[in-house]
Amino acid sequence: MEFCQCGSGFQKEKCHNTDDINKIRKSLRVSVLPKESDMDRVTTFFPLRSLDFSNASYTGILKFQLASTPAGHIIYPLFVKKANRGLRPLTIDGQIIVYDDSVEMVSIPCMLTPIHFGELIFHSKDIKAGSFSIGEATVKCEIRTKGNPFESVFSMEMKGEQIALYHHTSKENEKLILETGYFKSSKWNIQGTNELTTFHNVYFTNIPKVEDEYDLFEIGMCDKGTDLSIITDNNETEVIEVYRENPLNRPAALKVWVDWNLISTNHLILHNDKASHLAPTLLGTFSWWEIFMPFIFRVPVKLNSFLRHTINRKKNEYRLNYGPEFYKTNGFSAALGTDLHGLKINWSEVRIPRTQARQSDYGELDNEWVNIWKNNFTKLVDSTLEEMLL
Ligand SMILES: [Zn+2]
Repeated sequence: MEFCQCGSGFQKEKCHNTDDINKIRKSLRVSVLPKESDMDRVTTFFPLRSLDFSNASYTGILKFQLASTPAGHIIYPLFVKKANRGLRPLTIDGQIIVYDDSVEMVSIPCMLTPIHFGELIFHSKDIKAGSFSIGEATVKCEIRTKGNPFESVFSMEMKGEQIALYHHTSKENEKLILETGYFKSSKWNIQGTNELTTFHNVYFTNIPKVEDEYDLFEIGMCDKGTDLSIITDNNETEVIEVYRENPLNRPAALKVWVDWNLISTNHLILHNDKASHLAPTLLGTFSWWEIFMPFIFRVPVKLNSFLRHTINRKKNEYRLNYGPEFYKTNGFSAALGTDLHGLKINWSEVRIPRTQARQSDYGELDNEWVNIWKNNFTKLVDSTLEEMLL
């Protein structure tokens, strides 16, 4: 029996009934509202939502970062792996720490895909320190969710700690990559408009094919015009310029195996409980972190440099090699969902000073952030426990 690649855990024929993984991904991600003319159509993303499939529990490996943010220290789940499939969680909804007979148990509620809510549960005694960046670690974990997100289009093929990603480029560049034996870095920020000055990135994505404007948007580009609207949680909007590209200009999709230790931590957005991604539960709403542009994977390298690859000509696959040009960093930006200025920095990756600087601008603890994060999913769980006890 073949299971549907939406990750429902249902038989293919009884679910989406197609093998077109790009189609399934878009049907779950993008909502298009047609307007008078094609040029006017509005594309938005569906809110992340937990669909009601059968309860499931899996054993896997979690790679996380103990990150310092203006809201305090958080456990940032970077990747979760089950056998030879991996997922990059899309949100961080809380962190629940329970002591049971002096054993510390941690649970991270998060969205594993746009339609799978999950809990990543581990014991702190099982944590193994990471080999590359300080503050990163791996741990054996239990994954509680519904359906099977690991067989969904959002999961990635894995071999040990290597993830299969894609580098979309032109036919000419593909030739260069082959001939030179390396992947050259891009000097551009995520927005594609400013040159980065501390390090450059080799960009990858987990989207196997760039077919249309929806795929382009997932990797921070636009095809028509160069404008993209940023909307804050208070519905303030500002149009920013992004890199313009024709989806047909990147016909070469190179499959590249990338060590997860080489991948940068993505920026974050902290949304307050009024901007919950899930419909209010009986217990109320909660604040959460959104992983910014989760379909973009960056490997940082020294300015104007490159990383060598090894090619498997039989399979037509590349492997990215670690080298001295790799720029070790696990820093990232974070913005409040209500703060237009901060959101613009996530896109531009340039520290634009504001008229009245705030503590969070320097990465320091900031009361507003701390108070927002206090309302995360953990609070809902705590209040139910309290009610049960009273
Ligand atoms: Zn399906």
